[in-house]
Amino acid sequence: MNARFAPAPRHPDLHLFESGGAPHLFLPNGSRIFEIDEDVVSALETALHEGGATVPDLLARFGLAAPPFVTDEVPESFATRALSLAISQKCNLGCTYCYADGGSFGEAPRNMPHDIALAAVDGLLRDAGRGERYTVAFLGGEPLANRAALRAAVERANHWAERSGAHVGFSVTTNATLVTAEDAAFFDKFGFAVTVSLDGVGDVHDRQRPFKGGRGSFQRIVERLGPLLAMRRAQVTARVTVTRENLSLHETLDGLLGLGFYGVGFSPMLKSPSGKGEMAAAELGRLLEEMIACGHECERRLLAGGHYGFLNLLTALQEIHRGTHRPYPCGAGAGYVAASADGGLYACHRFVGDDIAAMGTVAGGVDAGRQSDWLVARHVHKQEPCRTCWARYLCGGGCHHEVIGRGRVACDYIRGWLQYCLQAYVRLLEARPDMFPPGNSFRDADALPADAVTSQP
Ligand code: SF4
Ligand code: SF4
Repeated sequence: MNARFAPAPRHPDLHLFESGGAPHLFLPNGSRIFEIDEDVVSALETALHEGGATVPDLLARFGLAAPPFVTDEVPESFATRALSLAISQKCNLGCTYCYADGGSFGEAPRNMPHDIALAAVDGLLRDAGRGERYTVAFLGGEPLANRAALRAAVERANHWAERSGAHVGFSVTTNATLVTAEDAAFFDKFGFAVTVSLDGVGDVHDRQRPFKGGRGSFQRIVERLGPLLAMRRAQVTARVTVTRENLSLHETLDGLLGLGFYGVGFSPMLKSPSGKGEMAAAELGRLLEEMIACGHECERRLLAGGHYGFLNLLTALQEIHRGTHRPYPCGAGAGYVAASADGGLYACHRFVGDDIAAMGTVAGGVDAGRQSDWLVARHVHKQEPCRTCWARYLCGGGCHHEVIGRGRVACDYIRGWLQYCLQAYVRLLEARPDMFPPGNSFRDADALPADAVTSQP
């Protein structure tokens, strides 16, 4: 790859990449993209070689300066709009890498009592207003190990939605070994988004996600999937945790799509309680190659007018199109909190039971002081080396749980993947504009002023 267009960071205010044979400029501020000519590239290259101090002036001369889209200011607090319930802190599988340490987060396995589940839902929705949007998510452990409380919580949330006129969406992440036709009917009735954790097909899955006794779980899951995949309202997706043991992503993607999933998303294992399964730098390099290979196949299918459920790319394309620029990687501790089985609140489902991300209690609500401290400390402008990384407002600084637990080990992978997504976006916007809502794309942006280059010093 031409070093000028490599994903490594060169300046906090810009990134150069190539797509379709043409150079492009990505401006982190506002996540804006411009096609540029060789003269602009040369001018920027000169500024970069001289240390980069003149880059802001040069961008201003090109008419590309803009007030900061993301400021240092931290909101005092965020209204909670998404709540996950660790409805069951126990699991019938013994996944090698489980972030929840076998489902129980290092404590005695237990279910969330009904009264805590109902109180958590009440706390989220009691004051909901007409037209507001909320999400209630069920994670674990295995949520279906406590289906009675799950259903009671859904019925209660639905009651509040009907009373207030708010919209409440539901989601569940399940290992699918316990799912019944009645569960599927229930999920369908309430329009759940269902994510099934599957790490591959057959033995590949079984090696990572066996039952606690060691027997493989893949066959059982396949036997149980029928009613889920037949649901009419909800799309069912698969989530694959990637370790060094299941790096053949294309095979997994095609295998799981072949089972009938609408889409498949991959997530590298970067932090596990025992360190088992965590990916090292060399494996992340291979992961990047595999992801890009899946991306090329997805582009090929999309260009042929079809659908290909490679969710990592499909999601990234829409985020890039929207010009996503965020000060945090996700809503954890912001608009999103997780409730533990014993009624604690935490920044997200992976932090359940971890004081570092404690956010109050179900009984007392979100602790505004802890939330404010978290938001101040976790802002991407406070993270190193994120402050100087071109990818910072697309990435947001990396998953808090992984970064706090292991540091920033995946930055080359993240930037390599985002660079590929930017390239794919430019290609697909040209060839498949119907995939993207009108407006808000770099093709609609003002072109660089005609005198942008000639007016350089
Ligand atoms: S975590 Fe993300 S924003 Fe921070 S340095 Fe790594 S890639 Fe860049
Ligand atoms: S902190 Fe990590 S695991 Fe938690 S919601 Fe954010 S991205 Fe997901």
